[in-house]
Amino acid sequence: MSPLRYRSLAAHLQDVFGEKVWKIPLDAGFTCPNRDGTLSRQGCSFCNPRGSGSGLLAQGLDLASQWERFKHSLERGRKARLFLAYLQSYSNTHGPAERLARVLEEIRPLPGLAGLCVGTRPDCLDAEKLGLLAAFSATEKWLDLGLQSSNDATLVRINRGHTARDFARAATAAATCGLQVCAHLMAGLPGEGQEEFLASVRFVADLAVEGAVAGVKFHNLYVCRDTPLAEQWSRGEYAPLALADYADWVAEALALLPPNTVIHRLHADPAPGELLAPDWAGDKAGLRRAVLGRIEAGFPG
Ligand code: SF4
Repeated sequence: MSPLRYRSLAAHLQDVFGEKVWKIPLDAGFTCPNRDGTLSRQGCSFCNPRGSGSGLLAQGLDLASQWERFKHSLERGRKARLFLAYLQSYSNTHGPAERLARVLEEIRPLPGLAGLCVGTRPDCLDAEKLGLLAAFSATEKWLDLGLQSSNDATLVRINRGHTARDFARAATAAATCGLQVCAHLMAGLPGEGQEEFLASVRFVADLAVEGAVAGVKFHNLYVCRDTPLAEQWSRGEYAPLALADYADWVAEALALLPPNTVIHRLHADPAPGELLAPDWAGDKAGLRRAVLGRIEAGFPG
C-alpha cells in the first residue's frame, strides 16, 4: 500500500517492475458500436463525439510514430524507460477480431513496451478477441472496461447500450483468460446520488472479491461540449456534483473496495476545450488536492 493509503496504478507498476512505468495513449482508429450505428449513433449522453481520442491516427501518425513521439518526450523529460501501451480512444475491441490482431501485432515490437491497457465496452468482447489479448505477451495486461453504473435504469438514461450483467459477464470472462479488469465508474450521473454511486462501487467490490475485477478508475462526470448531457445541463435538467461531494464519495468508495484493488485514477481530466461545467473539473491540481485531502481525513492514524 502506498503512503496515499490506496494502491495506485503507479505504485502497482513500481512494485511489479521495480521502476516507474509511463502510460502512452495510442489511437488505433477504432470506433464505437454506440456511435457507428451498430447500437446507436447518439453515443453515451456524456461522451465527447471525439471519444477521448487524440486524433493522431487521423493526422497520419501510425501507432509506431505515436509511440515514438510520446516516448521521446518522456525519455528526455522524465528519464522514462518502460511504457504501457494504452489503447484509449473509443472501443478498442470493436469490429472484426482480425483488426484487433493487426493492432496487437503493431504494438508487440514497440521499444520499451512493459504492458498493455485496452479501453473497451463489455459488449465488444468475445472468446476470439479475449484469446488474442490473452496470447499477447506482456507482464501487465489490463482491460479498461466501462461500467459507469450498476443501475440498469441509469444505463438506459445515459444510453450506454449494455447492462450491469453484461459487464459482470465480460469481466468474469476476461479475468478467466488472465486479463486484469479495471472497472470504469462515474460519480454524478443523471438521476443518481451518493447511494446509487456507492451501490455501483459495492457491485464492483463484489466482483473484485470474486477475482473478476482487479482495478477501478473513477470519473467525476462533467459536462462536455456537443453532448446530449450539455443540452440537459443548459435546460437546467442536470446539475454536476460539487467538488466536496465528489471528494467525499470517492473516499467512501475506496473504503468499500478490497485493499489490493488497483486504483487507476481518482478523477477525470477534461481534454482542452471540451469542458462546460463544473469549473472545478478543469482545475486538476485543486481537484487532486481535494480528493487526496478527503481520503487522508477519512483514514485517521
Ligand atoms: S462507449 Fe465510450 S466511446 Fe462509445 S459512446 Fe460511450 S463513452 Fe463514447
